[in-house]
Amino acid sequence: MATKQYKQLGCLDVDASAGCAFQVRAETEAEVLKLGAMHAKECHKMESLPPDMAAKVKAAIKTVSVTV
Ligand SMILES: [Zn+2]
Repeated sequence: MATKQYKQLGCLDVDASAGCAFQVRAETEAEVLKLGAMHAKECHKMESLPPDMAAKVKAAIKTVSVTV
C-alpha cells in the first residue's frame, strides 16, 4: 500500500448554494480543472468559467492523500 496525493474539487466547495454534490479527483490541478469545466458545462450550463468563478474554483481545490 502506498499513499498518493490527489487534487480534489467539489462543487459544494465552490458554490454551496448550488446544492450539487459533484466531486472530482485527479492527479494534477490541470486535470481537475478540465473535469470541473466539463461538469460546469454539462450540469450548470456554463459554457466557460467567468474569471471570478475560475479563481473560486482554483481556491477550492484541495490536496488529499489517498491510500492506494
Ligand atoms: Zn455541480
